Amino acid sequence: MSNFNIDSTKNRTYDAIVIGSGISGGWAAKELTGKGLRTLVLERGRDVRHVVDYPTTMLQPWEFEHRGQLPYEVKQENPIVSKCYAFYEGTTQFFAKDKEHPYVQEKPFDWIRGYQVGGKSLLWARQTQRWSNFDFEGPARDGFAVDWPIRYNDLAPWYSYVEKFAGITGNKDGLDTLPDGEFLPPHDLNCVEKYFKEQVSKNYKDRHIIIGRAAHITKAQPIHLQQGRAQCQHRTICERGCPFGGYFSSNASTIPWAMKTGKMTLRPDSVVHSIIYDEKKGKATGVRVIDANTKEMIEFYAKIIFVNAAALNTNLILLNSTSNRFQNGLGNDSGVLGKYVAFHNYRARVSGEYDGLLDSTTDGRRPNSGYIPRFRNVYKQETDFLRGYAAGFDGRRIEYNSSEGIGEDLKVNLGKVTRGAWSVGSHMMGETIPKESNYVALDKALKDPYGIPQLRIAVGYDDNDEKMVKDYLQQMTDMFEKAGFKNIKTYDSKQAAGLDIHEMGGARMGKDPKTSILNKWNQMHACKNVFVTDGASMTSTSTQNPSLTYMAMTARAADYAVKQMRMGNL
Ligand SMILES: Cc1cc2nc3c(=O)[nH]c(=O)nc-3n(C[C@H](O)[C@H](O)[C@H](O)COP(=O)(O)OP(=O)(O)OC[C@H]3O[C@@H](n4cnc5c(N)ncnc54)[C@H](O)[C@@H]3O)c2cc1C
Repeated sequence: MSNFNIDSTKNRTYDAIVIGSGISGGWAAKELTGKGLRTLVLERGRDVRHVVDYPTTMLQPWEFEHRGQLPYEVKQENPIVSKCYAFYEGTTQFFAKDKEHPYVQEKPFDWIRGYQVGGKSLLWARQTQRWSNFDFEGPARDGFAVDWPIRYNDLAPWYSYVEKFAGITGNKDGLDTLPDGEFLPPHDLNCVEKYFKEQVSKNYKDRHIIIGRAAHITKAQPIHLQQGRAQCQHRTICERGCPFGGYFSSNASTIPWAMKTGKMTLRPDSVVHSIIYDEKKGKATGVRVIDANTKEMIEFYAKIIFVNAAALNTNLILLNSTSNRFQNGLGNDSGVLGKYVAFHNYRARVSGEYDGLLDSTTDGRRPNSGYIPRFRNVYKQETDFLRGYAAGFDGRRIEYNSSEGIGEDLKVNLGKVTRGAWSVGSHMMGETIPKESNYVALDKALKDPYGIPQLRIAVGYDDNDEKMVKDYLQQMTDMFEKAGFKNIKTYDSKQAAGLDIHEMGGARMGKDPKTSILNKWNQMHACKNVFVTDGASMTSTSTQNPSLTYMAMTARAADYAVKQMRMGNL
């Protein structure tokens, strides 16, 4: 019997455990296995294998029962996730459903999740800009949160490292607010976007319109072919899963790469309940998992643990990892765990029309759009709110056709396209300020279907955000007017926090263990063999889409962790 127990424990013991298989967990798995560690990847959702588990990827619009629309019952049952633009008949299989995964909204918060192997990497919009020192120096300069323990130079080589493998398209724009990376050939701005770029450059010294930097393979390099990935086909139905591996997802890239090392064990349907802390050893020894199928609790053990469950679920796991030593959550000596959560302010939009360039139109599709890097409060404080916003920008010809008639007449009418003016639009991507009062905590009474406390989310906008929305609407309107755009409309969706799907913080990095959870290596100050490299670790939010930074931080932390382990320090 005792031999059996020893064997069973041995079978559940690895060098490393990674919690979550999304963007950051996939990178942790790739890096740790690549350095020779036997690594267990625990994923709460089902397995999604590249290509074979993308059921809608080759479907034509008419092959969908509801022509791509969401049936009424699905919307009724999923009031939260239905608000996400990417949730439609072709993608419902990759989103966590509201009813199955309840949480408590102390303030309105739309929590959008992807619970499967690959996490949200299947669904993301693939925008990947580096942060600059204006971002890392933000909290110290403007006096909020705590100072980041790292600067751009700490991450720069790791940005390069992950960009080359993931495949990032972009143009070297030479802007100090948005450092250039290791780019594959860029997508192009179309003629109305180029026109706007010229007009903006004429009128403003410090405002730029560039093509977005995105995780798409525009020219496959040997490293991409080795992953079995090919050039993006511009189908623009990425969120259904790409059989070409044309965009970066864990499923197409890091997870199969890690699997090929022979060092990875991937365990789907494994809901991590908590991390086990051993007081005598002064470190974490493993994790408790609830098997999603049997509901049985199983323990797994390892020397190092990477927590990559996505920002809020990482907070939940850490808060739920209580012990005699850590009664308020693992590593939470400072009391800041779960606090200083922030997000991106995506509330505002401006649209307009342009009646020039009518002899031109666009052709084909482009899985990317124009991007306006932050220009507010960059070099000095110039407004009555802190920080600033980036923005998306794109333009397309308005097309009309008539659906009159039936049979042959209808076909002919549908085929006759009349082109109107250009429609142009921009959306805001604002930085929000992390605050103690924006927090997540465990609900004392409510449990999820696995018996784990539900997450209580109290995260919302503040006065700074309101002022920023106004400024964006005003500035973008001015820019549109100067470009001669007409029929300009401004729009504040007042959408709840969360729908930006860039929630961050709660287990922030910092220099001082009294005010932060992680050190400059994404390593817990108070429990050195636990690393958090997803959005939970973010000290502030910047304006750039965050996932590229999670990738770079994960690769950097994995390198450090393995070196420390080999030196006997973990
Ligand atoms: C529609 C959409 C558009 C987006 N666009 C962009 C964009 O353009 N650019 C950008 O940078 N970001 C974008 N994002 C956000 C991006 O997807 C996330 O930042 C990124 O996926 C975060 O990586 P992650 O590893 O932290 O989390 P995820 O990719 O969500 O992976 C977390 C994984 O952990 C698993 N997990 C959670 N809890 C547990 C548990 N208890 N036990 C075991 N496993 C667990 C989950 O099932 C999931 O698989 C977008 C997201 C969506 C949905």
